[in-house]
Order: sequence, then C-alpha cells, then structure tokens
Amino acid sequence: MKEISEVVKLTLKNLSQHNIEATPENYEKEFFSIVEKNNIHFNEIDEFHKLINKLSTTDKKSLNSISYREISKLLSSRVKNEDLKYFLKHLSYFMLPSLSSQVKDEINKVCTELSNDPKNLINVNIIRKLRKITNIRINEDKKIFNEKNSDLKKLMSFLSTFLRNRIEKNIITLDEVDNIKHEINSLKLAKSTDDDLKKLYEKFSLVIEEFSDVVNNNNDEIIKGKQESEELYSQIEKLKHNLSLAEEEKSIDFLTKALTRRAYTEEAEKVEREYNAFDSTYVLIFIDLDHFKYINDTYGHDCGDSVLTTFGSILKKLTRDEDIIARYGGEEFICLVHYKNVSDIRNYLIRMKNIIKNNKFVYKDIKLTIKFSAGAALRENYKSYEETLNKADTLLYKAKELGRNKIILDNGEVI
Ligand code: GH3
Ligand code: MG
Ligand code: MG
Repeated sequence: MKEISEVVKLTLKNLSQHNIEATPENYEKEFFSIVEKNNIHFNEIDEFHKLINKLSTTDKKSLNSISYREISKLLSSRVKNEDLKYFLKHLSYFMLPSLSSQVKDEINKVCTELSNDPKNLINVNIIRKLRKITNIRINEDKKIFNEKNSDLKKLMSFLSTFLRNRIEKNIITLDEVDNIKHEINSLKLAKSTDDDLKKLYEKFSLVIEEFSDVVNNNNDEIIKGKQESEELYSQIEKLKHNLSLAEEEKSIDFLTKALTRRAYTEEAEKVEREYNAFDSTYVLIFIDLDHFKYINDTYGHDCGDSVLTTFGSILKKLTRDEDIIARYGGEEFICLVHYKNVSDIRNYLIRMKNIIKNNKFVYKDIKLTIKFSAGAALRENYKSYEETLNKADTLLYKAKELGRNKIILDNGEVI
C-alpha cells in the first residue's frame, strides 16, 4: 500500500465497519494507526516524525498520540513570547528589595536581559544569577531589619529604664532631664535607621523637652502620672518580649550561621520545584559529627558550641551561595548541592573530608581534630525528595555502623 488515497479509502472503510463516525478526530486516529501498523512511509509523515523528534522529552510525553491535532493543541497551549516579555518587564518590580537599595541595578540588568530574550529564562546560568542576587537581596533586607530592630530595642530599653527610675523615685530634677537629653543624643543608631527612626527619635527628644518644662513648672504632675507611667512601662516590656520572639524566628541558626531547619524546609521545596521544572540535578548530603557527646562531656558544652560554629563556617566556605547548608538538628547538618557531573560531587565531598580532617578546631587552649560521617544520595536516582532524604539518612547510619569517619555515596562508593 503506497498511495495515500489507498490509506484514505481503508481509513473510511474501517470507520464505517466499526460504526465509528468519520469525525476529523476519529479519522485522524484511524489514519495514523493504519500508517503505523503497516509501516508506511509518506514524505509528509517522515517530515512530521522529524518534527516530533525535535520536541523536548516533556513535550513528547504530553502528546496523547502522534497527530497534527495533538501538535496543534500543544503549540496553542504555549505562552507566547510577547506575553513572556510583558511579564518579564514587570519581574524586576517583584524582585526589588523591600528595605535595602543594594542589588537594584543588578536585578534590573538581569530582568532587562530576560525580557530581551525570554529564552534565557531556562538558562541555568541566569537562574543561578537570579538565585544569587535574590539571596543577597533577602540577606540585605534581613540585615537592615535587624539593625532597625536593635535600634528600636536600644531606644525602648532606654525609655524603660528612664521610666522605671522616675516611677521608683517619684521625683525628677532639671539636672536629670538634662542628663537624659545628653544620653539620648549619644545613643549610636545604625545608618539605615537614620531615615526611618529619625522622626521617632526627634519626637522622643521633644517629649523629654516637654517633660523638662513640666518639671520646671510642677513636680506634682509627674507624681500624679505615676499610674499611667506604670502602664506604659508594662507595655514597653511586652513589646520588647515580642521583638525577641521575632528575632528567634529568624532563618539563620545563631551558632552555626547555617539555615535553621524551618528555613531549610522552605529552601528544599524551592530546590525540588527547580529540579522538576529544569532538571537541575542536586545531591542531598546528611552529615553527623562523630562522638560529639564525648567532646561535650570532656571539654564542656561551650567547647562543643565552638566546634559547631567552626564546622558550620567551614561548610559554608566550601559551598557555593546557590547551594544550601542547614543545621538539621543538634550536631547534624544537611547540604543540597547542585552539580553537572557526578565527579563534581565526588570532588566536593573529598574536599569537605580533607578540610575537616586537616583543620584544628581551637577552643581556648584546646586543639581538637573532628571527624564526621555522612550519607549522600543523588536526587535523580529516586522518585521523590522524601526517598532521597531517607536514602541519605540510611547511608549515614551505615557509615556510623561501619566505624564512622566515612562518607558513603548511593553508588556504594566510600570516601
Ligand atoms: P555518634 O558518633 O554516634 O553520632 O555519637 P554522638 O556522641 O555524636 O551522638 P549523639 O547523638 O548521642 O550526641 C549528640 C550530642 O550533641 C548530644 C547533645 O547533647 C549534643 N548537642 C546537640 N546540640 C548541641 C549544641 O547546640 N551544643 C552542644 N555543645 N552540644 C549539642
Ligand atoms: Mg546526632
Ligand atoms: Mg553524632
């Protein structure tokens, strides 16, 4: 059967025999099935197959059958280049820092680059760059938030001490008011706070000024206001407590400067989304320090803390900004590291092992050598993130069982 007209005839015959209506869809299905069964080669069909082969694996998977109808469905469901450009023009607005003014130029540059050529959206280097500047942006914003937070605390603690003294003494003199004014002016506030808290700061000085007038005119009024002051004092204490809570919720672990477990969970979700969207392969490494309890018991908890701080800082130095280091629990760390070739990961783990082995962990006059065990699982070898995590955990256990001081990879290799 070589003529297309023969296939057409047979298609219509088959449809009629099976009592199937010859709608375009049914017709096309039957037509292609005959072509495929009989291994027929029309130039148009060969041409069509070549086109299909050019599609990405994901696109191919989304086709229900190989037909013009399916291809046209696929193409019409795509977002148009113009639409992408329109979106990307606005991207910089979403990304700009909320507090800091750093990295604004860089963000605008990358976004312009993207809107000029939206194809860059799936360019791994551009994605890395975006991750990097987003991290800088977040950290800068956090830094400014912390500065403001600490300045606010300074002002409040000053105010609360001041109020407490006045309440306790029930009295205030003009000299004292002058002292207070002087103390306020010598409070050192961060530069970033200048603009935002300046008004508060000025108002505060004004209040003290007015207070000074009141003192001058009638000391009794202050005593009458004692009850109100007490209330104010307790409100300030409450506010201070809330600020401390807010600080605890920060995403960086204070001891190791690695991500906290909570922040890690969010980051891991992002990495997993990227893996699904862009096949950006990564390895999950579970690390646990060997015989850490012995260090605590022998040299004290502070020495243990200092070891954790140094360990965290070594891991961070060793790892790129776009990868992730987190403190998973007490002396357990977890790393998510992107790679192109598996050999990149081997080299990374060998470097990690050597640096920790050769580093002297110093605390006061104590010098320690630290050992650790780890399990490493490549995400691409498992169905899900959870399976990868479990595998790395199991490998870590195995490393402990086999005598510690080992990194075991999921291909069985031991470093
Ligand atoms: P193994 O080689 O089997 O891992 O032995 P290990 O002693 O390291 O294991 P274990 O989990 O029994 O001990 C972990 C210890 O880490 C117990 C805990 O007191 C200590 N630890 C957890 N968090 C901290 C911390 O923040 N600072 C200090 N100094 N110690 C901590
Ligand atoms: Mg442990
Ligand atoms: Mg341990």
